[in-house]
Amino acid sequence: MGLKRPRWWWRFRWLSWLYAYLFHYFWLPCPICGRQFGGHEWLPDHALMLSLHKGIAVCPNCGDEAKRRNSIVLKKLGVLIVPPSAPTEGGV
Ligand SMILES: [Zn+2]
Repeated sequence: MGLKRPRWWWRFRWLSWLYAYLFHYFWLPCPICGRQFGGHEWLPDHALMLSLHKGIAVCPNCGDEAKRRNSIVLKKLGVLIVPPSAPTEGGV
């Protein structure tokens, strides 16, 4: 699930920058939208795959887009991700 930031939130980016600066988080442009964001804002599954073993963090707004692009990369690589099936009722 993507966490959409409201429009006004981007006006206070300097506060986020200050926080990142003070607490030694990274401050980098998002590879998808180009907006700069800090390591403290990064959400665990918000990453764009560069290869099967490498990924790059994307901003809180681009999580869904990163997942969409990752699924295209995985398809090209022939990797099939099968979610674990729910246990059937009654077992067996
Ligand atoms: Zn972004």
